[in-house]
Amino acid sequence: MLPSFAYARPTTLAEAVAALADGQGRAHSGGTDLLGCLRDGVFTTPTVVSLSGIPALRGVDETPEGGLRIGALATLTEVAESEAVRSRYRALAEAAASVASPQLRNQGTLGGNLCQKPRCWYYRGDFHCLRKGGDTCFAVAGENRYHCLFGGEGCFIVHPSDTAPALVALGAAVRIVGPGGTRALPVEAFHVLPSVDHRRETVLEPGDVVAEVVLPPPATGLRSTYRKVRARASWDFALVGAALALRLAGDVVREAHVVLAGVAPTPWRAKAVEAALVGHRLDAATIDRAAAAAVAGAEPLAQNGYKVPLVRGLVEERLQAIARG
Ligand SMILES: Cc1cc2nc3c(=O)[nH]c(=O)nc-3n(C[C@H](O)[C@H](O)[C@H](O)COP(=O)(O)OP(=O)(O)OC[C@H]3O[C@@H](n4cnc5c(N)ncnc54)[C@H](O)[C@@H]3O)c2cc1C
Repeated sequence: MLPSFAYARPTTLAEAVAALADGQGRAHSGGTDLLGCLRDGVFTTPTVVSLSGIPALRGVDETPEGGLRIGALATLTEVAESEAVRSRYRALAEAAASVASPQLRNQGTLGGNLCQKPRCWYYRGDFHCLRKGGDTCFAVAGENRYHCLFGGEGCFIVHPSDTAPALVALGAAVRIVGPGGTRALPVEAFHVLPSVDHRRETVLEPGDVVAEVVLPPPATGLRSTYRKVRARASWDFALVGAALALRLAGDVVREAHVVLAGVAPTPWRAKAVEAALVGHRLDAATIDRAAAAAVAGAEPLAQNGYKVPLVRGLVEERLQAIARG
């Protein structure tokens, strides 16, 4: 059952920041994740602060530099259907289109997608796990078929967002407004590994609101893609996913950003894959080498070893798709 809470609906960012500044309130955008967390007792809050009345958080606009600014309240449907996103940042359009179901994409926002809580069933369930302030990660000796292969020190969640890996691959930045003012940082620096702090998923501090995401102008020769493998095609989180953004000159890779989903507590930059690509023709031998590099260093738990060949195959398939053009 949903617990009781007060409800605030500010109309400016400054009011929202003030309402959230004591660290007790919770921001509400589409509510598709927040209300589930409250209903399931993952956390409680005295006040839900709706961001929906703040016009400054809406819209998808060109930037003066030739990039794109996407307001945090843009729905996933708006992102997936935006002509500017589809034609210039294909990986992001594909990622947004692959989130959940049409109803959830109509309600869920880009800001909420970046800030959503992990789906680990121990974290979401009645377990006082490490991430909730306990001293045990129950996944280690428990049911861990959906858990991580990389970066799982102490806590073995996987980061659930589809859009975050695509935004990292595309070099996007996130603009945050908080009690100390406004700051921007790469989406790549937004999420936090358990080795840094196993109690938080993002760098957000009390009162911080994600205001917008800014994509740089697409480089000449940029090709990007996102695909996830999931148990149910109708709607499901990624078992594994891959976001790729490659800059090609002819068939030679000049720049490569490869970010894996569903395999680590944050979007996972596969630097060994990038190194295997840059400076090489995107032919069968390079693709094979790069795909093998995607799983180097993977540390499967007892039940999630199936993700290793899945990641390798997905990276290979996406590189072949990029090579075809
Ligand atoms: C059945 C189901 C299936 C799903 N499948 C997927 C999936 O396949 N892929 C996927 O990526 N997600 C999935 N989701 C998760 C969720 O629906 C999406 O991530 C959605 O984009 C969340 O956006 P929202 O606006 O509803 O967030 P909300 O629920 O409003 O917020 C989510 C979290 O972010 C915080 N927050 C929201 N907006 C801001 C902001 N602007 N600044 C700071 N903090 C903020 C909230 O306090 C809350 O903690 C699924 C959810 C459900 C229920």
